[in-house]
Amino acid sequence: MANILIIGAGGVGRVVVHKCVQNRDVFEHITLASRRLSSCEVYQKEVKERYDTDIDIAQVDADDVPALVALIQKVKPDMVLNIALPYQDLTIMEACLQTGVHYLDTANYEHPDSAKFEYKEQWAFDNRYKDAKIMALLGSGFDPGVTNVFCAYAQKHYFDEIETIDILDCNAGDHGYAFATNFNPEINLREVSSKGRYWENGEWIETEPMEIKMVWDYPQIGKKDSYLLYHEEMESLVKHIKGLKRIRFFMTFGESYLTHMKCLENVGMLGIKEVEHNGQKIIPMQFLKTLLPDPSTLGARTKGKTNIGIVATGVKNGVKRSIYIYNVCDHEQTFKETGAQAVSYTTGVPAMIGAKLMMEGKWTGHGVFNLEEFDPDPFMEALNIQGLPWIVKEL
Ligand code: NDP
Repeated sequence: MANILIIGAGGVGRVVVHKCVQNRDVFEHITLASRRLSSCEVYQKEVKERYDTDIDIAQVDADDVPALVALIQKVKPDMVLNIALPYQDLTIMEACLQTGVHYLDTANYEHPDSAKFEYKEQWAFDNRYKDAKIMALLGSGFDPGVTNVFCAYAQKHYFDEIETIDILDCNAGDHGYAFATNFNPEINLREVSSKGRYWENGEWIETEPMEIKMVWDYPQIGKKDSYLLYHEEMESLVKHIKGLKRIRFFMTFGESYLTHMKCLENVGMLGIKEVEHNGQKIIPMQFLKTLLPDPSTLGARTKGKTNIGIVATGVKNGVKRSIYIYNVCDHEQTFKETGAQAVSYTTGVPAMIGAKLMMEGKWTGHGVFNLEEFDPDPFMEALNIQGLPWIVKEL
């Protein structure tokens, strides 16, 4: 049926390749491209051994629009799945526009020189995507992604009006290292060392990093310290969930992670500006990434579970209610299935599902969309089938 081009052969890219191969009835032809061909070769070999199936591979620098256009013209995909880094969102969106091909990603555009993410520049493609009669689906990972779909599902089936949403993200996995990040270290550390922000009564309220903490009892995991962070899905949810009065995002961090991060920050290792080192220019954060374990290698050593969900409160038929929708994912199980830990898995599976719904014509449109703008039901159904079952609890 569909011919797809996946760009980015990292931890999440691996899961996307596995899950697309597992859904060959939809993804008939798969090309995996990345900055280094060697990264693609590993996964090409892996799926050949595991599923006895072939995928094509290619080298591309996704910062280079003409190179992307040339690759897209050669592969002629129906859509491009951007599983590289948020820095590449705009170039890949531009290349899709120039070639008239649908687009999907899992993370909001970030400029390499400023640790700040917002949808503004990606939403600005909307009219041009409409004119070109193509679709972009933004943020089809877990958070953003599934959390947006959970909110749309709550809105559709449980509320006349949602008043508050808390997004709760817990990774209780243990990889045995003193310090490592579960996805790209640069993107991860930039996110968690930034100021916090939440939205209440029509305005954004800024907090110091890790200033607001609460303890949440995560089903199948237990009580964990959870810290308020800014997270990108709040920007679109505020726009699309009508009547919302407050939205916050919390993520769990252990004492040891926070102590390491504070030390690294204090000595300047989280810096994203160039510094001179022995006559060479280096960016401290990028050097730190070189030293830290590669997230795509954590799978084999990680034990424990993730639990990510939303708590929504609001009113149905004049009665106040509160519901909790969440997924629990086991690191060892996802490793067994795809060779990846649960953070990559929980991102890669929804990326495949978003692409599948687009290719099956279940989610269609012209322009740039976030996930909560579509009917959540087919996505929720697919989560149960594709390895990320969810639970709804009345609180
Ligand atoms: P990795 O660093 O493991 O992988 C990124 C891959 O992108 C690398 O393999 C790299 O290729 C490739 N890449 C980087 N720059 C370029 C370039 N210029 N051209 C072509 N390829 C490039 O990251 P993850 O797999 O952990 O994360 C992938 C994406 O998923 C990120 O955008 C991340 O923010 C997002 N994410 C989203 C989540 C969600 O829930 N929504 C959660 C977790 C992650 P190579 O190996 O060839 O050098």
